[in-house]
Amino acid sequence: MTDAEKALYSWQLDVAGFGDEGQRRLKQSSVLVSRCGGVGGHLAAELAMAGVGTLVLAHAGNLRLDDLNRQVLMSHTGLNTPRAPQAAERLRALNPYTRVEAFEENVTPENVKRLVTSVDAVASCAPLFEERLLLNQEAVRQKKPLVDCAMFELEAQLVTVFPGKTACLACLYPAPPPAWQRRFPVLGAVAGVIGCLGALELIKLLSGLASPLENQLLLCDLRTLAFRRTTLLRRPDCLVCGK
Ligand SMILES: [Zn+2]
Repeated sequence: MTDAEKALYSWQLDVAGFGDEGQRRLKQSSVLVSRCGGVGGHLAAELAMAGVGTLVLAHAGNLRLDDLNRQVLMSHTGLNTPRAPQAAERLRALNPYTRVEAFEENVTPENVKRLVTSVDAVASCAPLFEERLLLNQEAVRQKKPLVDCAMFELEAQLVTVFPGKTACLACLYPAPPPAWQRRFPVLGAVAGVIGCLGALELIKLLSGLASPLENQLLLCDLRTLAFRRTTLLRRPDCLVCGK
C-alpha cells in the first residue's frame, strides 16, 4: 500500500479485525457485479470505496429516465447512453486505485463462464431469476463464493453461497418462480440497503474481517424494519450443488 492509499483508507484501517492485512487482501481481490443498477450500483460503490482491487461489471442497455430513482452510479447527463461505461467512470472517480472493467452485456449462458472465471467472488444483483440462477450454477461449478442480493417493494433478502460448504441459491429456488415480472415496485433506499449489506458480506469474506452468513437466508422487511435469519439447508437433490 502506498502512503496515499493508507491515507485514503485510514478511517477503516482502525476497524477491529480489518487493519492493514484486511486492506491488502481487498486490494488483491476481484469481484464480478452482475448488473450495476439499483442494488448492484450501491454494492459496487461500496466495494470501490472500500478498496477492492478489481471490479468487473456486467450490465446491458442504455440509461432511461425511470432508472434514476435508484441507479446511484448514473446521472441525468448520461440519459440514452450505455449504462456500463457510466458506472465504470463513476467508480473510477470514487476510487482511482480500483481497476474497473465494464461489459455492456447481462449474464447469459454464452458469457457466464468467462465472466466468473475472471474474478475471485461474484455479486448477483440482477432482477431476473434466470440470471441469478445461472450465476449461482457457474459460481458453484467454479467453486467461487457468491453473494445474491434481491428485493421487491419494501422487502429485501440476501444469501451467501460457499460452494461445496453451504446451500446454494438453487437449494432455495430450484426453478424461477412462475409469473415473475421484470418490472416491480422499487424505492432506491431499499436497493441501497440490500446493496450495502451485500457489499459488507463480500468485504467480510474477501478480507477476513468477520464471518459471512453460512446456510442462512437474511430477510429484511423494511416496512417494519424487522430483520430475521432463517436456516437454509442444502438439498441433497439440488440439481446444482447436490450429490
Ligand atoms: Zn444447491
